Amino acid sequence: MSFEENIRKVVPYTPGEQPQKKVIKLNTNECPYSPSPRVAQAIKEMDIDALRKYPDPVCASLVSSLAKYYGLSDDQVFVGVGSDDVLSMCFLTFFAGQKPIIFPDITYSFYEVWADVYRIPYKVIPLNDNFDINVSDYICDNGGVVIANPNAPTGVAESLENIEEIVKKNQSSIVIVDEAYIDFGGESAVGLINKYDNVIVTRTMSKSRALAGMRIGYAFGPAKLIKYLNDVKFSVNSYTMNMPALLAGKAAIEDDEYFTEIRDKVVATREWCKKELKELGFTFRDSKTNFIFARPPKGNAKEIFEKLKENDIYVRYFNKPRINEYLRISIGTDDEMKKFFEVLKKI
Ligand SMILES: *Cc1c(COP(=O)(O)O)cnc(C)c1O
Repeated sequence: MSFEENIRKVVPYTPGEQPQKKVIKLNTNECPYSPSPRVAQAIKEMDIDALRKYPDPVCASLVSSLAKYYGLSDDQVFVGVGSDDVLSMCFLTFFAGQKPIIFPDITYSFYEVWADVYRIPYKVIPLNDNFDINVSDYICDNGGVVIANPNAPTGVAESLENIEEIVKKNQSSIVIVDEAYIDFGGESAVGLINKYDNVIVTRTMSKSRALAGMRIGYAFGPAKLIKYLNDVKFSVNSYTMNMPALLAGKAAIEDDEYFTEIRDKVVATREWCKKELKELGFTFRDSKTNFIFARPPKGNAKEIFEKLKENDIYVRYFNKPRINEYLRISIGTDDEMKKFFEVLKKI
């Protein structure tokens, strides 16, 4: 017998490239603006001596700021190392049954990876040709449901009515709503956590709050589910959130004015980019996110992706069935997008 048989083997998630040279980076949906100046201040004023000690395992101050901001109680909030960590903990906690969990065929590709690594059976449900979900497909016997709303990489937002229907008709499984992009548009399901006991909503500070490098994610849910989530977290690693991240997250949440300003700038640039792309003959579903998932008129997405890259402009291309004629273009600053369109027109 070989030790190979004892090894947990998985096909890992492939993140977008992080080139070390200076490029126009429109490939991983980061925020093109700096984090709140209050974040810089909080880090600068951090007591370095306090790093001797472990950070607060329950992340109380960040949890309270989030609860206060969203009008929830502290026991309805969970925080983690980016929403990737939060979602991973959710998969580990809520999907321990035998029945397959379900999610769309075109969605955040990490879902498949977590299902694999935790040995969770899963079934993907095709979106329709417009990239919409068909609600009745989600009303079936299952071990759990995961929906990104707005969805990635399509940018399409589902109505709250549809999300509520899925939650309501799945009382015997947990429904996770991944709201990584909700600040840019769409209707949040956060209100459902006081109405149903089987729903978890996840969020991130990586996109709308310009803190991808700090790794801060969070989840909202009924207190009972948050307790289950914490029990699993404390069984894996008690100290997931480091002290700078706890301080930065709190500072970011408390600066609502700055948050609104940069979020609105991204949304305004996105609306302008939609017009430009339309004029160039690109087709796309309306985006409620900080990116546009668009098909060039000739469907030659791969070729355009490569040519943009030669010009130091990085967008995302997925060489996968059904979406291999699309480019996912993150929204940068107005200047970056002007440069992008200049180069795109030449191509
Ligand atoms: C970016 C993203 C995440 C993860 O974000 P973190 O940086 O780990 O917080 C989760 N879900 C979706 C759909 C995303 O696009």
